[in-house]
Amino acid sequence: MASQTQRKVPVAHTITTIGGTPPQEAMVDKIVKAFTITPEYLEEITQHFLSEMKKGLNEEDQTIAMIPSFVEGRLTGEEVGQFLALDLGGTNLRVVLVDLQGRGNFTTKSTKYKVSDSLKTGDVKDLYNFIADCIDSFLTEHNLDYGTADIHLGYTFSFPVYQSKINRGLQKQWTKGFNCSGAIGKDPVILLQDALAKKHVPVLVSALVNDTVGTLLSNAYSKPDTNAGIIFGTGSNGAYIEKMSNIKKWKGGPTSSDEMIINMEFGAFDNERVVLPVTPWDNKLDRESINPHKQIFEKMISGMYLGEIARNVLLELVDRTLLFEGYSSKELNSQWGFETTYMSTIEADQGDSLKETHRVLSSSLNIPKVSEVDCRIVKRVCDLVGTRAARLAAAAIAGIARQSSSVQNGCDIGIDGSLYEFYPSFEQRIEQGLVELFPDVPDINKRIRLGLAKDGSGVGAALCACVAKKMAERRPSV
Ligand code: ADP
Ligand code: MG
Repeated sequence: MASQTQRKVPVAHTITTIGGTPPQEAMVDKIVKAFTITPEYLEEITQHFLSEMKKGLNEEDQTIAMIPSFVEGRLTGEEVGQFLALDLGGTNLRVVLVDLQGRGNFTTKSTKYKVSDSLKTGDVKDLYNFIADCIDSFLTEHNLDYGTADIHLGYTFSFPVYQSKINRGLQKQWTKGFNCSGAIGKDPVILLQDALAKKHVPVLVSALVNDTVGTLLSNAYSKPDTNAGIIFGTGSNGAYIEKMSNIKKWKGGPTSSDEMIINMEFGAFDNERVVLPVTPWDNKLDRESINPHKQIFEKMISGMYLGEIARNVLLELVDRTLLFEGYSSKELNSQWGFETTYMSTIEADQGDSLKETHRVLSSSLNIPKVSEVDCRIVKRVCDLVGTRAARLAAAAIAGIARQSSSVQNGCDIGIDGSLYEFYPSFEQRIEQGLVELFPDVPDINKRIRLGLAKDGSGVGAALCACVAKKMAERRPSV
């Protein structure tokens, strides 16, 4: 079974005329200016991104951390066997049984578990006890009994980690709404293995995998020219294949290959605010978030945040009596009350009456009075926030492509995440950004080939566990 699914993503319909009063038009113009990234500006952002990548490769503790993944070389396509994958770091916890059959073929069975807010922000021991219980019940549910041999598990842990081996690392920080106590500076593999051992669950955690690394591997299993794996979901990050000779900070000794996957942690790009077009509405989101000043790039491009940026803009319009006759609602007044999925609905809405937009505003958000001009303003705001996100995403992809000189020869880039999968025209807007960033390269979108890599944290983590198992068999000390 291949991971690629046929996608039918709706197209975003852009409106050009608002038809508002002069003060409304003036304010909309101001918002347009704040969110627009011209081709020249996009180039400037890309160049800064590239120079920050190089800094991260040269030295420790840089803004883009550029963390070596300890996954050396490329897949052979010969990876086979049954593995477990665990995915923590997004909206759900997922346990997956993966049967690798070689050359891009595999089957999966998976179960999702909801991680409550109290688990996300409580003692990390409670979180790991919960996870061990989920794995235990998954094994029972699927009748998995391996006798005396532990089943190998690839643990997709989508938070920044200082990795020291393929199955060892220390957690640097939490992101994306998680903030458990007792985890920073600890090894997530040991925390998980201890919780499993206490409950006598016969599972060996053999690889610690960032979701971007998993995405890269799963894409590479069927597309050998894969060069990067990227996530545009709750949060954003990327991984790509780098030459060892370019990883100047590497102190890990000889490796079995002259290439290694780098987990970039690019969500922190420009935390210094040197180049990004940070608006007052971004600053408001940042200030009210649980990680102020951190992950600024991620906050401008990911699913968790886009709705909140748009909400901040809409509230300013309401406060100036330029929207909804100055009335808001409990929903619109609540942090995170304007969901990114609403933006998808609104962006896809077309026709003069903007019925879907009206429905979201009056039914989902309970705004008492919604005019057609209001609908057009809201649609314009969503367009601006969504387009800016995709163009910034293009800057990151272009940075990776330039660093790895993969433009001329062509490469595949596996992308995971609901934003890429479902947000109207997100992919086309990235592609437009790439066209502007590579004016001299004809058919750039055929050379940098974006594609959905949906099962990254399942198949990718299983592939990583398989690679780790082989490494352990070769070197008993690992
Ligand atoms: P994760 O990153 O947790 O693995 P996803 O890739 O599904 O999960 O991303 C979830 C994020 O994507 C949420 O922030 C959600 O708001 C956003 N999202 C989900 N569906 C859509 C959609 N149809 N349009 C826009 N954003 C969406
Ligand atoms: Mg995910």
